[in-house]
Amino acid sequence: MPTTITCYGAVGGIGGNKLLVEDGGARLFLDFGIDFGACGKYYNELLRPRPARGLLDPLALGLIPPLEGLYRRDLERPGLWERMRGQSGYRNLARPGGGPAVDAVLISHPHLDHNGDVSYLDERIPVVCTRAGAAIARAMQVTGMSTLEREMVYAAPRADKGGGVLGSGDSYRLRPFLFLEGNIGVDARDFWANAGSGSRKGIEPAAADAFPGKVAGLAVRAWPVDHSIPGAVGYAVETGAGWIGYTGDIRFHGRRGGQTRAFAAELAALHLRALLCEGTHLESDAGRIGEEQILERVVPILERYAGKLAIADFGPRNVERLQVFLDAARRTGRTLLLQPKDAYLLNALHMVEPDAHPAPDSGSNVGLFDDPKSAPRPWERETRAGWHAPIVSAENVSAKPGKFILADSLWDLNDLPDLEGISGGVYLFSNSRAYDDEQAADLDRLRNWVSWLGLDLIGDPDDPASPSLHASGHASGDELAEFARAVKPEILIPIHTEHPEWWDETLIGSGIEIRKPEAGKGILI
Ligand SMILES: [Zn+2]
Repeated sequence: MPTTITCYGAVGGIGGNKLLVEDGGARLFLDFGIDFGACGKYYNELLRPRPARGLLDPLALGLIPPLEGLYRRDLERPGLWERMRGQSGYRNLARPGGGPAVDAVLISHPHLDHNGDVSYLDERIPVVCTRAGAAIARAMQVTGMSTLEREMVYAAPRADKGGGVLGSGDSYRLRPFLFLEGNIGVDARDFWANAGSGSRKGIEPAAADAFPGKVAGLAVRAWPVDHSIPGAVGYAVETGAGWIGYTGDIRFHGRRGGQTRAFAAELAALHLRALLCEGTHLESDAGRIGEEQILERVVPILERYAGKLAIADFGPRNVERLQVFLDAARRTGRTLLLQPKDAYLLNALHMVEPDAHPAPDSGSNVGLFDDPKSAPRPWERETRAGWHAPIVSAENVSAKPGKFILADSLWDLNDLPDLEGISGGVYLFSNSRAYDDEQAADLDRLRNWVSWLGLDLIGDPDDPASPSLHASGHASGDELAEFARAVKPEILIPIHTEHPEWWDETLIGSGIEIRKPEAGKGILI
């Protein structure tokens, strides 16, 4: 029986991983993420696909592949698939018996370019992931914008309100989740099933069980890997053609780099037929720093700004980086103030993995920043009500700015006009550089805020004189080459990279065949 891999994203660019593995009658997706590059061609934060038109906008614009039978039925409108049948790459995946078109979607980690488009999938398809990955996806859905594009964990089924306009009904439907570490645990069951988080809508339950290790008869194995978000794994699937490996996103220079090295050894032992390998950062690792070095750089800066406010800007789901700033706060006698949505996310991680993730309010150097809201959402009220550490208002910060590190990002800066007397402090930018024009414009906006607040900006990625306070979430080119040679698959399929041709030269003489994917074209392996 033929085995094929079809890449419906992550081809010649970064993100949007949607990798279909088919073996005989079995089908599974490795990740189902958002292609931000393609979305950015048509949309921005304000100009969005219309939820009332369901699947029409993302399908017509080619943001999700034209695979009939794969998506939520409640988002279809009459005539939708007749219209899509002419699109290149169209396939009808519907199964004769009416069951789900694919047997599972295996999520490598909860970055939206890997899991975001799960929102559109038929909600009967089981989602396989780690508990931490599920908790983060759930926290993002609860605390983020309430929209069709963020229904990764529970869906609000739409109904035709007349004239082909879809509106949401009065209940949520939880997706079935299969957790790689075993079932969700008794203590977390209520938390998981109560997806609406204080909402008036009811919720239909679904499986939240242990992953049985097989998808439609194919053995699946997963290993934790080091990346810039908790709960990241790489996979291997045993097909008729042999084992297929998938890296997800990996690095070696974080606190869990040893896990990625162990992953390489495990894959090597399987003698892979094919490896789907990321290649985000192919430059060498000269000048690159790790999380420990960020701490070593941040502490003296905080000491230099004693008595003044420090603001720390880092990826909200980068829990390892949050730990760096928590350590820095402890070492300099400051309190790290979390935004409510970060506190909610850390609490979600604690619910599903209490040993790996302590309760966010259990430390002595942590507080919750009280951003004033006239109408807090249910999850915000819940977070405040359950918070055992100090809740710190803008007035408290203004009175003693040197006592705090405020965790913040561009998206929270509009709360800061409440602060007074904070000029002369420091803004620590601990994020990656801008990758496109839109991000560059955001970075300019951030610089304007920092200057208006009267703070010094440290870590500006475009200022060579400013020390970097960021560690990449991805392996360097040298490390990836070493990884590929160690794993030694028969075939390497370069994905999640702008430079697939880099692999040709890099692996010359290794005996590894490079097969570059084309979007929507199956690779027979
Ligand atoms: Zn990632």
